[in-house]
Parts: sequence; structure tokens; C-alpha cells
Amino acid sequence: MICIFLGAPGSGKGTQAKRVCASRGMKYIGTGEILRENVAAGTELGKKVKAILEEGHLVDDSTMIAIIEEEIKNEDSFLMDGFPRTVCQAEALGELFGKYGKNLGAVIFLDVDVEEVTKRILGRFSCPSCGKDYNVHIDDIKDKRCSVCGGELLQRSDDTEDTVRERIEEYSRKTAPLKEFYEKKNILINVRGTGNPVKIFERITEALDNKN
Ligand code: ADP
Repeated sequence: MICIFLGAPGSGKGTQAKRVCASRGMKYIGTGEILRENVAAGTELGKKVKAILEEGHLVDDSTMIAIIEEEIKNEDSFLMDGFPRTVCQAEALGELFGKYGKNLGAVIFLDVDVEEVTKRILGRFSCPSCGKDYNVHIDDIKDKRCSVCGGELLQRSDDTEDTVRERIEEYSRKTAPLKEFYEKKNILINVRGTGNPVKIFERITEALDNKN
């Protein structure tokens, strides 16, 4: 199956998308993660996008479309988290699907309001050693240490208050219109993204099962 996850920054898309991929054997394609890996490795792409990510802006469409073409062209079962993020990207994705003979199975919109996502992002920490994620509003991390490996917990460099505000504005201006774009194609499934993460996962699983 081919699936897109839409939702505001901090809506829990990344966490849920990875769980869905693990449970269904789908390839996870997270564009934010791909960009951050390039920044960390100091590649040409990484050098080009580092400042853009830190300011909370979007990377240009043609760069992102080229990345996604490479990621999807030889895959049949995958989930995209963070792409498309603009109507231009969504249109280009439709063309790529035509070019490679692929069909979009479902678009999950994870619905969480802006106040809640801001609070979640500013409370988000992770362990750079083992990758475990934490949130100060849920987990007890007063000592800022990982309960699994003892590593020091850090925040993402784009999870500062100013950048978060900018990312949410970018989302409202450029990404939120995709909801209507896919609604018109009758492929959008709205999933409530608040409450217990296990329950949210069950809602998504049920929605995808009904599609099959
Ligand atoms: P979040 O959804 O939590 O904001 P992501 O990890 O999905 O974060 O993305 C982090 C950053 O990577 C974005 O703020 C943006 O700068 C860049 N990015 C990721 N995907 C795209 C995309 N499809 N188009 C443009 N920029 C992107």
C-alpha cells in the first residue's frame, strides 16, 4: 500500500507513521529525517538546507521532489511522512505516480489543534544515542537522562520557540491546503490525533484496514 501522512508539526505524525510501517512492513520515508541526516553528515544537500531547517522554513519544491523520486521509484509499499508539504509537491507526486505506475492508497490527516502541537513540540526531547523519544508533559525526565541507555536527552535544533512559530505558520500557509486537495480526490481520512498514542494508532490501523 502507498500512504501519505498529513498533519501539523508536532501532531505525532512521525511516531505514528513509524509504528504503521513497522506493523505493515511498509518503507518509512520521512523527509525531515532524510534532511536532518544530511545535515548531520555534512553532505552538499545538508549544507544547502541547514539554515533553512533552523529557521523553520521549507526547502524548495524541486529539491524535495528530486529526493522523493529517488526514494519511491523502486518501492511498492511505503508511507510518506513530511511529503508533500505544498500543493506544487502534491501535483508533482501525482505525476511521479503516473510515471512509475503507482496508486495512492490513502492519505491520513492527523488532526490536532495548533495550541496542542506547540505545547508538544516545546516539550519534545530525544536520546541521540539510542533514538528514544520523550515528552516532558508525559514522561518523568527531570534528570534529562535516557531511561534505556543513560544518554543525555536533547531537543531538536529546530524545536525552539521562534522556529516552532515559523514552522506552524509555514504549515498553515502552505501545507494545510493539502487537506482540501486530497479531500476533493476522496482519499483523505481524518483521524483524531489527541489522547492516548496507542488509541491513535488503533484509529489509524482501523482506517487503513477499511481501505483495503
Ligand atoms: P515537523 O513536521 O515536526 O516540523 P519534519 O521532521 O517533518 O518536522 O521536517 C523538518 C523540516 O524539514 C521542516 O521544517 C522543513 O524545513 C524541512 N522539510 C521536510 N520535508 C519537507 C518538504 N516536503 N518540503 C519542504 N521542506 C521540508
